[in-house]
Amino acid sequence: MDNNQLYLLKLHEQTDANIESLRAYAEENHVPIVDRITLEMIKQVIRLHKPTHILEIGSAIGYSAMQFASISKDIKVTTIERDTEMINRAKAHFEAYQFKDQVRLIEGDALEQFENVNDYTYDMIFIDAAKAQSKKFFELYTPLLREGGVVITDNVLYHGFVSDISVVRRRNLRQMVKKVQEYNDWLINNENYTTNFLNIDDGLAISIKGVSI
Ligand code: SAM
Repeated sequence: MDNNQLYLLKLHEQTDANIESLRAYAEENHVPIVDRITLEMIKQVIRLHKPTHILEIGSAIGYSAMQFASISKDIKVTTIERDTEMINRAKAHFEAYQFKDQVRLIEGDALEQFENVNDYTYDMIFIDAAKAQSKKFFELYTPLLREGGVVITDNVLYHGFVSDISVVRRRNLRQMVKKVQEYNDWLINNENYTTNFLNIDDGLAISIKGVSI
């Protein structure tokens, strides 16, 4: 982590709600949750864009879903998770932190949950599950995104490997990184979306649906 990142982390330290205490649990138990500066960026997008319905692919322990919901009582988050242990943790957290009214958890593989979440049109979609499948999630769920809606994809630089795949030796990891590269290329060339890529934390893509003005 460079000095600028450390400095910004410290600046944002003051602004945390108590949901932040879950970060220590996540770190101890090796649960990957959204990085701090990335989270602050996404929360700022939410304040600007004012979504009512957010769809999240990949809940883990429910940390990001609660962070998003904490911005306004008007925000409803639908979040999809397939791992049983994560599901149980997330449920317990939604109860303990009193987000049961704002966050709905859909259990199962996100590639199979379309019928269970298509009761809303979404204003924002956060893609944060299996990184090799981001394109599939995007294609499956963006029909539910309203015109002008936002898709946010995390980890688009994946540990620095995406910009320099030559350092990756493991075959499985190489395949995954290639998928992320393909996704990024496809996204930037997608005529129905305007995307910008940010070099913060593990890399973030923000895509807006429809022709920009
Ligand atoms: N968004 C969470 C946060 O920031 O607090 C972190 C999510 S974590 C990076 C990714 C999660 O996606 C894992 O818990 C994993 O089990 C889940 N996941 C991966 N592929 C999935 C799939 N196809 N369907 C549902 N969940 C999936």
